[in-house]
Amino acid sequence: MYAGKIVEQAETNVLFRAPRHPYTRGLLRSLPSARNRGERLPTIPGIVPDLRTLPTGCRFQDRCDRVGEACLAEEPALQLLDRSEVACFHAEVSP
Ligand code: SF4
Repeated sequence: MYAGKIVEQAETNVLFRAPRHPYTRGLLRSLPSARNRGERLPTIPGIVPDLRTLPTGCRFQDRCDRVGEACLAEEPALQLLDRSEVACFHAEVSP
């Protein structure tokens, strides 16, 4: 969930193996592990928008590294992509 809205849902193994939403990917990048022990964990820049004054379009637009024109104009609906439901106009699996 992001800013009160479901942005991605899938079976646990699918979500952890191939996160599609930029917010999900950002959250999973920030998990500590033995590989990044002692390192500063990555964060998602910015803050959650005020729910009383949500922007037009995607609620994650100010923090997203994939934001485009469509993201500013319309709120993405949850849609089925392979085995995940994702609310994003650019929900490609991360490389
Ligand atoms: S719809 Fe656009 S701004 Fe929102 S998460 Fe997807 S790419 Fe980012």
